[in-house]
Amino acid sequence: MEVIRAQAMGMCFGVKDALSATRSVADPSATTIWGELVHNDAVGRELGARGFLQRDEGNRDSLPATPQVLITAHGVADRERQRLIEAGHRLVDTTCPLVARAHDAARQFALEGRHVVVLGKRDHVEVRGLVGDLPSWSVVGHLADVERWPSARLGVLCQTTMQECEAQKLLDAIACANPQADIAFRDTICEPTRQRVRALRDLIAMADVVVVVGGRHSNNTRQLALTVARGGRRAIHVESANELDPRDFAACRVVGLTAGTSTQDDAIDAVERALRAMPSASGVPRHAG
Ligand code: SF4
Repeated sequence: MEVIRAQAMGMCFGVKDALSATRSVADPSATTIWGELVHNDAVGRELGARGFLQRDEGNRDSLPATPQVLITAHGVADRERQRLIEAGHRLVDTTCPLVARAHDAARQFALEGRHVVVLGKRDHVEVRGLVGDLPSWSVVGHLADVERWPSARLGVLCQTTMQECEAQKLLDAIACANPQADIAFRDTICEPTRQRVRALRDLIAMADVVVVVGGRHSNNTRQLALTVARGGRRAIHVESANELDPRDFAACRVVGLTAGTSTQDDAIDAVERALRAMPSASGVPRHAG
C-alpha cells in the first residue's frame, strides 16, 4: 500500500499565527480565549494545560472574568469587540487577515445599502462574527435557504472556508431567484482553503481511499471529507492515529492523506507513520501533483 500526502494540507498561516500569539502571552491564567482557538480538541487541551481559560463559542453572552481576552482567528463582530473593551478587558486580537477582509466586504456592502448574503454555515463562529454588525443580512448554506429577497441590491460574500463549487452553485441560485436585484459578489474564500481543495482533487485522482485528519468540529476538515465522498472515493476522517483501523485498508493499493487547516503537523505525521506501518504498506514516499 502506497501513502501519498496532499501537496497542500494542515494548518494555515492564520491558525499558526494565532497559536504563536498564545506563546507570547505572559500570563495565560489571566487570559480567556474567546471561543475555540482552533476546532481541534488536542490543541484545546494543550492550551488548558498551559493555564488559558476557554469560553465555549455558544456561551459568550456573559463577560469573562479575566482581565485579558484573546479573540480567535475566526474573528468577532466589532460590536462584540467594543463590548469587551468597554467592560475593561485588554484584547489580544488574532483575527486572521483573510477573515478581516471578509468583514471589510460585508461592511462595504452594508454601506452601499445592500442586503448582505453570506454563503456559509449559519451557526459557524466566523459567520456569526461576519453578520454581527450588519443591519440586514441572510446566511445561505444550502439551496433551500435561497429566497427572493425584497431588496433591490444584494451583496454576496463567502465564509472563508467555503468550497468554490458550492459557492458558485448558491450564487447561481441567488441570481436566478432574484432577477430584479443588482447583485454584487465578493469572493472571500481564503487562498489556503483553495490550495487544499485543489491538492485534494489531485489526491482523489490517485488514491483508493483518502484519510482526512482533523477535529470532528472543524468545518473545513468535514468539507474535505465531503469532497472526497463527492469525488467517488471513501473518506476516513480521524482525529489521531489511534483511530485508524487496519481493516479499512486491507484492499487498498494507494491511500491519500490530507488534513484540515486546524490540524497540527505532528498529528498528520503520526497518521502517516501508522499508515506506513500497516502490513500491506509499501512505505514508498511519493508526492501528489
Ligand atoms: S482558514 Fe483561511 S481564513 Fe481561516 S484562519 Fe486559515 S487562512 Fe485564515
